[in-house]
Amino acid sequence: MAAKALGEHELWFVAGSHALYGEAALTVVDADAHEIATALDESPALPVRVVHKPVVISPEAIRRVFMEANGEEKCVGVVAWMHTFSPAKMWIGGLSALQKPLLHLHTQFNAALPWSEIDMDYMNLHQSAHGDREFGFVQTRMGVARKTVVGHWRDPATLERIGTWSRAACGWREAQQLKVARFGDNMREVAVTEGDKVEAQIRLGVAVNGFGVGDLVDAVSSVSEETIESLLADYEQHYQLVPELSGDGARRGSLIEAARIEGGLRAFLTSGGFGAFTDTFEDLHGLRQLPGIAVQRLTADGYGFGAEGDWKTAALLRILKVMATGLPGGTSFMEDYTYDFAGDEPLVLGAHMLEICPSIADGQPSCEIHPLSIGGREDPVRLVFSAAAGPAVVVAMLDLGDRFRLLVNEIDTISPPQALPKLPVARALWKPKPDFATATEAWLAAGGPHHTVFSAALDAEVIADFAEIAGIELLRIDEHTRIRDFRNELRWNQAYYRLAQGL
Ligand code: MN
Repeated sequence: MAAKALGEHELWFVAGSHALYGEAALTVVDADAHEIATALDESPALPVRVVHKPVVISPEAIRRVFMEANGEEKCVGVVAWMHTFSPAKMWIGGLSALQKPLLHLHTQFNAALPWSEIDMDYMNLHQSAHGDREFGFVQTRMGVARKTVVGHWRDPATLERIGTWSRAACGWREAQQLKVARFGDNMREVAVTEGDKVEAQIRLGVAVNGFGVGDLVDAVSSVSEETIESLLADYEQHYQLVPELSGDGARRGSLIEAARIEGGLRAFLTSGGFGAFTDTFEDLHGLRQLPGIAVQRLTADGYGFGAEGDWKTAALLRILKVMATGLPGGTSFMEDYTYDFAGDEPLVLGAHMLEICPSIADGQPSCEIHPLSIGGREDPVRLVFSAAAGPAVVVAMLDLGDRFRLLVNEIDTISPPQALPKLPVARALWKPKPDFATATEAWLAAGGPHHTVFSAALDAEVIADFAEIAGIELLRIDEHTRIRDFRNELRWNQAYYRLAQGL
């Protein structure tokens, strides 16, 4: 059995049936369910393990297995399927108790209808078409959030959709335990990076807490020479160092200081169990550089990060990195920066002062040092590269005061058509879908922020699955977006989410 990218997590596969059909039929139901669970477990489309649970035929057994799922740390979600009819009032207690994400798999054990052999025994055994409608009804009647996947269980498209959802479930699991460390507050007077941290913890589980930058400075000053040496060796191995930063270069001291900052940040985050962090150039007292290469390398290792105190983007980056585990293509902090209106179709150049993640790089980054007037510290060391071409998404989370909104835009990243010899930061260049004007007007109408998570590993469906699990509004901007419809969606969502909150 090949290792799974998120193999420390598992889904529970629960098949429903009814005592009406007799012991012999239930034995077949359970064996069939076991075979499907095994096929899901062995499918490379699923990054998690899948565990078969014995077929359930009573309210007590259903509630028990869902309560067990709640209590099992490894279980990130439950897949439910009705092999036969399973009267759905039996499921109300269990569904009321279930706290893990739910996927309703609407499949059937046999693919082909046995035309010449089919009789009523066959009909009674293979009636998912019937049983899953009953199950769908009770979920809708109860308002149970779930993903419904329809298709034969051997169909690669079905397996792919279950795999995508399982990634969202792992992201949800990560959110429940995620701790975000903030060094300093938000950039003064900025609106979109603000938000309700208490609501974030209630809604997503994410715990966001602040620390004085002096606490980080203490960690930085405690970094051993040995750690610095090993980080410098790492830099030399993985990046193209400009001559002034190399062994006998004139600015080697700046690289040593950058390594010291990385060592301190790593130690702080590791000892506190943090999965994400923020900093702000307005509060760097005692730090000699705004962290550049340190942030870039920490995000490459899976940490979330948001600049200017942006804890929402920091948390989102960490959650998306977990969801993307094992997939090709990187995931990075990003900011919409500047446009090119000169061509047939305008382009967006995304970048930041320093902190773009090298997981999205096209080729080996170069390690450089340049002035940075903002922040008023010494020149920071950074990795410079362009993002690899290909399909990607930009994802953002904003706080509308009464709720969080997720926003995703499908984009095509392209290679820069010309060299950018004087641009001293990492960047990505892209065309948004469906086109620049529609995508950008929709983004602005939705109140979308300038900070995003850029991912070449994930697609919009996994973001939609995550939003459904979290109960958070999601707006998709993709090839189907039309402004007239999008504006209506904004109005309808405004009404829906306010009504759905109740009093
Ligand atoms: Mn920024």
